[in-house]
Amino acid sequence: MELAYSESELVFRDEVRDWLTANVPTHPLPPPYTAEGVAAHREWEKALYTAGYSALHWPQEYGGGGADFMRQMLFDEEYHRAAAPQRLNRLALGLAGPTIIEFGTTEQKRRWLPGMLSCDELWCQGFSEPGAGSDLSAVRTRAVPDGDDFVLNGQKIWTSLSAFADWMFALVRTDPSQTRHRGLTYIVLPMDSAGIELRPIRQLHGEPGFSEVFFTDVRVPAKNVIGEIGDGWRVAMATLGYERGTGLGNHVRLSNDVRQLVDLAKRMGVADDPVHRNEIASRFAEAELFRRYMQHIASQLAAGNGVGSRSSLVKLYWSELDSRIQETALQILGPFAELAAPQNCADGAGFHRRYWHARASRIFAGTNEIQRNIIGERLLGLPREPR
Ligand SMILES: Cc1cc2nc3c(=O)[nH]c(=O)nc-3n(C[C@H](O)[C@H](O)[C@H](O)COP(=O)(O)OP(=O)(O)OC[C@H]3O[C@@H](n4cnc5c(N)ncnc54)[C@H](O)[C@@H]3O)c2cc1C
Repeated sequence: MELAYSESELVFRDEVRDWLTANVPTHPLPPPYTAEGVAAHREWEKALYTAGYSALHWPQEYGGGGADFMRQMLFDEEYHRAAAPQRLNRLALGLAGPTIIEFGTTEQKRRWLPGMLSCDELWCQGFSEPGAGSDLSAVRTRAVPDGDDFVLNGQKIWTSLSAFADWMFALVRTDPSQTRHRGLTYIVLPMDSAGIELRPIRQLHGEPGFSEVFFTDVRVPAKNVIGEIGDGWRVAMATLGYERGTGLGNHVRLSNDVRQLVDLAKRMGVADDPVHRNEIASRFAEAELFRRYMQHIASQLAAGNGVGSRSSLVKLYWSELDSRIQETALQILGPFAELAAPQNCADGAGFHRRYWHARASRIFAGTNEIQRNIIGERLLGLPREPR
């Protein structure tokens, strides 16, 4: 059963389709970890913004579309269907922005939301530290009050997009007498502040994209705190909920990838192989289930209901499915999978990239082991894991 869209939603969908058909770049943009790639993605983001599509469900007073989640989902579905570029400012649009809308002051919303939408200001996420990944409450970066500022010392790691970011939203320890979830604060800092040093990290598949970020006596205005001082854990958990739970439209990308498996099997001459057929049919069934589940989530959000701990279910499901889809692609490629650009496969390198990215998706936004713990404890009522 498909979701019943209203007449006006279907008109809206047709408008979006037409716009994407006319505007999506015909060639893939250069990767967004070079200056050239970032500039090309910014231009694309500017086109989306000018057309009013940057963030449809954000409040209109800050430059958003003021639409409900169903329209946002319709847009995201069409966006993925059109194979449009990955959103460059996704950490702002998907994480920091919704958090500031929920917890920020009017002044903070006015200051930061418009620049996120237009992509004039790029954002990165400063949560993870060496020793504080899954156990995020072990954050040790210190922020000491000094006049109207906090002074930051410490280190973040695995900071995506940091080389080009204008702003970072970070979790820091403001009260060292408190441990774990208490005494943490959520703060926003300009990446060009004196005392910030970036050290790039190259990934397993050879691409750059991450940095370690070091803070030495970095002054950050206290007015950049989101929520209350010392209440950062609650704010950070909201961010993680947004990160895990509202990848609306992602299911279309996964369904597209399953369809590419069919094309790939035909090109490789193995479409009649029972093992490959079995695997492809299984991926199709799994992607269909996810699509229906995400439509249900969107209708819940549109009705004003939160996703809560179900965001862990969403994150676990899509990242595991993504991995299985890309593994199926490599199985279909057989021995050619070991070549960077296999024969009979126009997009051989693309499958490799997606395979490695899918492996990483089991880690980022909180590892899948952690999601299983959350599901066990909060959705199933199992006893807390031993600590
Ligand atoms: C592609 C990518 C992009 C990222 N981008 C960012 C970013 O922009 N900003 C940012 O702040 N971070 C980012 N991260 C970091 C990411 O959030 C962390 O890698 C993740 O939270 C895991 O932390 P860790 O690497 O310290 O692993 P650890 O926490 O050390 O975990 C190691 C292993 O132990 C398992 N484990 C740990 N604790 C438990 C437990 N209690 N029960 C069961 N198993 C457990 C984990 O599941 C994992 O398999 C990114 C990571 C990736 C891969």
